[in-house]
Amino acid sequence: MEKITSQNIQMVDLNGQYKKIEVEVNEAIQEVINSSHFINGPQVKAFAQDLAHYLQVKQVIPCANGTDALQIALMAFDLKPGDEVIVPAFTYIASVEVIALLGLIPILVDVDPNTFNVSVDAIRQAITPRTKVILPVHLFGQCANMEAIMSIAKEHKLWVLEDNAQAIGAQYTFSDGSTQSAGTIGDIGTTSFFPSKNLGCFGDGGAMTTNNEELAQNTRIVASHGQTKKYIHDVIGVNSRLDTIQAALLQVKLQHLDSYIEARQKAATYYDQAFAEFEHLKTPVRSNTSTHVFHQYTLQMDDPSKRDQLKEYLQKIGIPSMIYYPLPIHFQKAFKHFENIEYKKGDFPVAEKLCESVISLPIHTELNESTQDYIIEHVKRFFN
Ligand SMILES: *Cc1c(COP(=O)(O)O)cnc(C)c1O
Repeated sequence: MEKITSQNIQMVDLNGQYKKIEVEVNEAIQEVINSSHFINGPQVKAFAQDLAHYLQVKQVIPCANGTDALQIALMAFDLKPGDEVIVPAFTYIASVEVIALLGLIPILVDVDPNTFNVSVDAIRQAITPRTKVILPVHLFGQCANMEAIMSIAKEHKLWVLEDNAQAIGAQYTFSDGSTQSAGTIGDIGTTSFFPSKNLGCFGDGGAMTTNNEELAQNTRIVASHGQTKKYIHDVIGVNSRLDTIQAALLQVKLQHLDSYIEARQKAATYYDQAFAEFEHLKTPVRSNTSTHVFHQYTLQMDDPSKRDQLKEYLQKIGIPSMIYYPLPIHFQKAFKHFENIEYKKGDFPVAEKLCESVISLPIHTELNESTQDYIIEHVKRFFN
């Protein structure tokens, strides 16, 4: 146990993961280099088809990153400035900033203290005649309450945009027992292939997923300069593409995604057991309607005043940890006074409390039990 040193504990071990598929990956990338087909090469379409098959969704539209995917999806809905988009106050900033960039109004709502996902009651209360979109984020690897969200959306005729950057491969179960993949339930789902995401590439990448052919067409047009035919531009678009090299790599990695998910789940269960009877920490609560793909393993401290000390203590002995996220969206300078909305402390008490009390431990596909034992041992030692 004592042999483990600071150099070999990481939040994610991308190199260790690469080493196991090095030959396949190198061949796939070499093939793209040999072809010089760096933009829109055949691997881009092939990967989109593979991913569509994996997720059981009709259309996958690749793009340059997960933030672009969110922006393009919103542009595909044909909204107008001032339209409101309901989005959780506890999320990564990308989910919110794209709303603001398009002149839309992000309407922040609180989250559930157990699953960290958007509160359905809060969504209901936030609906106004200007609401056009609900944007749930499948935070840390498990789905938001999609059945309820879809029913609210249907009732109020709203779009649903799933930010699926953290939960690719998670399965949602409806009350009739049927299941669907995260990102394929709403009108459009978006994901990110940022290197540390569960399906990560060697740079930036992203995609949109949809069962709606018209929306698929709209997103393709927007992602390609609003172009409907070569040099014919019907709407204002953006330039957002997945590189062929990244697509070729992702084709290889997608074949391993199920085993990657299993490895993360196994590591999470191991932590769960170790901290089950440990009064100072609350282990992640698993939703009973979604599998959890553990993009993050996030604990809640019973005493938030010690959280930063724990992080520092771990850091000193070479154990990395992260705070996802240290500030709720409404405490960010960019959104504190947004349009005519003035947020204050106490507006989203759950999000605020989580930002003070959460801490995420290393979790990745290469984590082994002896490293976890070392991490667990030192986390517990901090409290004794
Ligand atoms: C990573 C992430 C994004 C953005 O993805 P990029 O590819 O980095 O642009 C968006 N939303 C959430 C919840 C994320 O975790």
